[in-house]
Amino acid sequence: MRSVQPLFYKVICTTNKSKPMILPILAYGDPVLRKVGKEITKEYPKLEELIANMQETMKNALGVGLAAPQIGKDIRLFLIDASPFAESEELDDEEKLFLQDFKGIFINARIIEEDGDEWAFNEGCLSIPNINEDVFRNETITIEYQDENFEIKKDTLSGVAARIFQHEYDHIEGILFTDKISTLKKRLLKKKLENISKGKVDVNYRMKFPKLKK
Ligand SMILES: [Zn+2]
Repeated sequence: MRSVQPLFYKVICTTNKSKPMILPILAYGDPVLRKVGKEITKEYPKLEELIANMQETMKNALGVGLAAPQIGKDIRLFLIDASPFAESEELDDEEKLFLQDFKGIFINARIIEEDGDEWAFNEGCLSIPNINEDVFRNETITIEYQDENFEIKKDTLSGVAARIFQHEYDHIEGILFTDKISTLKKRLLKKKLENISKGKVDVNYRMKFPKLKK
């Protein structure tokens, strides 16, 4: 007897939702990156569309996190998708397994507590391309936030997951990772950062440069 091949019917999607858009990421030097984000409510205009566009923008730039100020909105919203770290050779299996599924939409987030020893991790930022520096942060954090349905969540994170959250959280507080490096390193990076503001940088995703001469 021959097995019968199942029949698949093509489902044609008829929703009128527009395709998500890739938004320009603001480069170092843009004043919006320095603003403290405002809390938002469910009524924030076109929130679903904004989140979909940010997801698309983050994916396109191969980021593990993207905060609303980076696309020009000074609100307390950021996204994380840590799955690329699941491929990292420097992490142990348990952490890789956790990071594989560590993704989410974080609204009105607060870090309630920071705990544990400070440790260094080499950070980078989509707004500051081609610069990576070791940043010291606490190992463990307790967080409170609202998810995309505005349900209140509380969680404890440690290691790389905490690290990504701390970096994104800084964005909604107007802080960049380059603020947290030594005075000497800051001096060494001054010219490079100035060049990024002017658009003199090699980058393969869409950006907006505050000091680009037209
Ligand atoms: Zn960043």
